[in-house]
Amino acid sequence: MTDTTSTTGTARAAVLNAVDTPLQIRDDITVAAPQAGEVRVKMAASGVCHSDVSVQNGTIPLATPLVLGHEGAGVITELGPGVTNRAVGDHVVLSWVPQCGECYFCTRDQGFLCEKNAAVSLGGLLDGTKRFSTPDGELGQMAYCGTFASEAIVPVISTVKIPDDVPLGAAALIGCGVLTGVGAAINTANIRQGDSVVVIGCGGVGLNAIQGARIAGATKIIAVDMFDSKLEMAKDFGATDTVNAGEGDPVAAVQGLTEGRGADVSFECIGLEATMMQAVNMVRTGGEVILVGVPRLEVQLDLNAAFTFLYAAKTIKGCWYGSANVDRDVPMLIDLYQKGELKLDELISREIRVDEVNEAFEAMAAGEVARSVIVHD
Ligand SMILES: [Zn+2]
Ligand SMILES: [Zn+2]
Repeated sequence: MTDTTSTTGTARAAVLNAVDTPLQIRDDITVAAPQAGEVRVKMAASGVCHSDVSVQNGTIPLATPLVLGHEGAGVITELGPGVTNRAVGDHVVLSWVPQCGECYFCTRDQGFLCEKNAAVSLGGLLDGTKRFSTPDGELGQMAYCGTFASEAIVPVISTVKIPDDVPLGAAALIGCGVLTGVGAAINTANIRQGDSVVVIGCGGVGLNAIQGARIAGATKIIAVDMFDSKLEMAKDFGATDTVNAGEGDPVAAVQGLTEGRGADVSFECIGLEATMMQAVNMVRTGGEVILVGVPRLEVQLDLNAAFTFLYAAKTIKGCWYGSANVDRDVPMLIDLYQKGELKLDELISREIRVDEVNEAFEAMAAGEVARSVIVHD
């Protein structure tokens, strides 16, 4: 390892100062030197994900102030002490779950549950301290990432090296929406060749669950959403049938499309009680329900135990980060992308500057876009 001289940097970033307030664009952010096990990343691109909005509106409770953004890709510009498995110039995708490879969960192929993620709600890095500061004080960073900043210090175990020829805008999306949605289909669920699948919610994650189901061999893929624009997009990602949930009972519609049986597998990608119950009721006897959406903390499900689990023998599985092992799954997804089997470029509805992030949040709430991608200078 070459002995790099530690430096401080400056960043432009979108900052959440308090729940339910617009993001503030700041140019006066100092980025401290990377500490042991950390790297400095010049961010190239960041997806704008529903979970960023969920932090803004308090659905996901994180300490503020903090730099939002958790779906990014960039280039390593500095190594902290002890980092030997990355080099300056490496292109990386950021993982919003650091995966140490050594803990109880990582050694059981459940890196998405890595114990290093325990302090995520406090907004610091793995040792609890922060690397962003302004004249007003320190800033946290979402999920050890903070991809709405033009540069950030992140744990090296939150980075996955990728080939230099992969466009960083497309690569950024792998870090959350693609790993979560495709991972739900190929890791969490057990989709068999020829299965019927229903996906409720066709945003960034749902579209990826759809293409993941297609890759996993499903031949009937029913997309459910309230927006016809999203249902049209769902067809481009592999949906064979669409149901507008605003026009009649979506459970009955799915039963009608599956010979009255219900789908083999359902994915709920919204996080509402009503749609989670629909996901349970849309699968056949013996079917599998994958809950991917992000519910508010107070949401409860009211399930009949006998008719759900005993007589109907349904399986309900939680899904966190697409059940991903990022060191295995990111290279696999890039391989699928390079073979033309995984759509990434098509997920990008528009490229924006970080100054436009509040408008991108509004567009997402209005159901307009799959993904806005921030391109950093
Ligand atoms: Zn671990
Ligand atoms: Zn996300």
